[in-house]
Amino acid sequence: MTGSATPGAAPEPREEAAPPAGPRDRVLPTYARAEVTIVRGEGCRVWDDAGRSYLDFVAGIAVVGLGHGHPRVTEAARAQLDRLWHASNLYWTEPMLRLATLLSARLGGAQAFFCNSGAEANEAALKYARKATGRPRIVALEGGFHGRTLGALSATGQPGKWEGFGPLLPGVAFVPPNDVEALEAAVSPGGDVALVLIEPILGEGGVIALDEPFARAAGEIAREVGALLCVDEVQAGMGRTGTFFAHEGLGLEPDLVTLAKGLGNGLPIGALLVADRAAGGLAPGDHGSTFGGNPVAAAAACAVVESIDDGLLANVRERGARLVAGLGRLPGVLDVRGRGLLLGAVLDREVGPVVDACRDRGLLVLSAGPDVLRLTPPLVVSAEEVEEALDILAATLSR
Ligand code: PLP
Repeated sequence: MTGSATPGAAPEPREEAAPPAGPRDRVLPTYARAEVTIVRGEGCRVWDDAGRSYLDFVAGIAVVGLGHGHPRVTEAARAQLDRLWHASNLYWTEPMLRLATLLSARLGGAQAFFCNSGAEANEAALKYARKATGRPRIVALEGGFHGRTLGALSATGQPGKWEGFGPLLPGVAFVPPNDVEALEAAVSPGGDVALVLIEPILGEGGVIALDEPFARAAGEIAREVGALLCVDEVQAGMGRTGTFFAHEGLGLEPDLVTLAKGLGNGLPIGALLVADRAAGGLAPGDHGSTFGGNPVAAAAACAVVESIDDGLLANVRERGARLVAGLGRLPGVLDVRGRGLLLGAVLDREVGPVVDACRDRGLLVLSAGPDVLRLTPPLVVSAEEVEEALDILAATLSR
């Protein structure tokens, strides 16, 4: 009650009133979000609800490869919105067929299964490998990340993320990245391995690139025992490392490839690609997704695939090389890892405050573990924007 205090008497101690619940309390707190609400994007920049602009070297976590509001992708999605939003997978739709054809041309006649995210693409790979081989086991990499659904989580080599969610899938073994002997031991003949699942660059796991001998050995070892090799290109694919698929730079011929993130430039879509030689693993009724291959997302993805040309890939390599050189000269940077525009700078300090300080200075960057600063700018980033980012990083790291 208010207005009941006796005049002159000491005020009664008041309990600190809890702030009224707002829209943010209506969201399950699964993310530690920054105090920023992004409302608009254009090219390599985004704006918050106070009108402040940021140079975006996060790109929605390696998603908006062609930059925000890319005219060709926007037009493709808009035209499809006017034509057909959804029809289900009971029927064929044109954008889905066109996307399958475009991706197949990039991966030597592969077949595609479409879904909505990276985790779902990896779930499809796990199921595909088990059904195709009739075996149960999976071998993946320590520190690898494949998604948060239970199957993908079970193949994610980061025990901290498993806590409280067990029991996970049985029969998953992890080996350290770039350790051929450990891989040989885990994928032994008669060991019932269905799938070897690797990221070409462990993005969430600290931007750790696989070396070519390990990648080649993974392909050979899997083939020798009749297991399938899946390269998870959810983060590293779609041009991000300077080739359309990241595995191209590793001389690998995977049986399965998973894609998501950059495939839709921000519209949700994922894909499992099955190479020709591994075909025939699934039949009607074995797997599905109501929204998989959604016409609007697929139309946007077609425009994305068609936009990843030699000029764009050259830009990725050139801007990436300049970033590597520039990052290596910054104070507090101990090492620079990754390829193309999937880069990590190992710092001599905790990365969280650096990410916050960069944001305060108008640059969005992200982390990959406690001391790795990760940069995943749009693939269209200009030379001037790279210099601007390096200047902000220099100022931030100099303190
Ligand atoms: N695989 C890799 C390599 C990833 O980096 C991610 C997400 O960061 C995933 C899978 C999961 O993708 P999504 O968040 O779309 O489920």
